[in-house]
Amino acid sequence: MGKLSLATQYNRAMIHEILPVGPLQCNCSIIGDEVSREAMVIDPGDDIEDLLAIIRKPTLQVKQIVITHAHIDHVGGAMKLRGLTGAPILLNQNDYALLKMLDLQAAWIGMAAPGTVEIDQSVTTGDIVKAGSHSATILHTPGHSEGSICVYFSAEKTLIAGDTLFAGSIGRTDLPGGSMEKILHSLHTTVLALPDDTVVVPGHGSLTTIGEERESNPFLVKH
Ligand SMILES: [Zn+2]
Repeated sequence: MGKLSLATQYNRAMIHEILPVGPLQCNCSIIGDEVSREAMVIDPGDDIEDLLAIIRKPTLQVKQIVITHAHIDHVGGAMKLRGLTGAPILLNQNDYALLKMLDLQAAWIGMAAPGTVEIDQSVTTGDIVKAGSHSATILHTPGHSEGSICVYFSAEKTLIAGDTLFAGSIGRTDLPGGSMEKILHSLHTTVLALPDDTVVVPGHGSLTTIGEERESNPFLVKH
């Protein structure tokens, strides 16, 4: 018992920095282990120099680059970060088609085209990603795009939600691969299945909790 509670407390002391990057201010998460110094970066959309400043301060070693979905504001800086850290890029394979449209996506929002992004590994529901002793389960949550995923740190009660769930809103479904039916299914069956006290880090904007969204998100409350 004593051991278990110590481990739980330790797991809560996870390094977690959130840096809004790029013109659309995508919430990029840097997750690290204070002891082993191993880290993962989720959604390095842009501003890789600012990201590196955070990574270098406690000298973290980036082991994985996880992309919640293949929209340019989330994936645009991934190749640069891979080149600088050697860490593999992980994305759900259902978004590979979107990745081939990055130049078009760049034109839509007036960003420089990032060139080809290479994926090292596809991840889907049940796969585990790690930053040292902190591990997260991948949840495939299609709807905003076919390959959208959330990254769930159960011990740390934290969900990196990409553009599936926002504080008071949900991801848009009018872009290629989007589906209102699928995003609502993902939210009701997968995301809202998580405990109310789970902190949600959306792809953009302020943090929230599962309980708060269950209670008051106009897209999710039962009428
Ligand atoms: Zn998006």
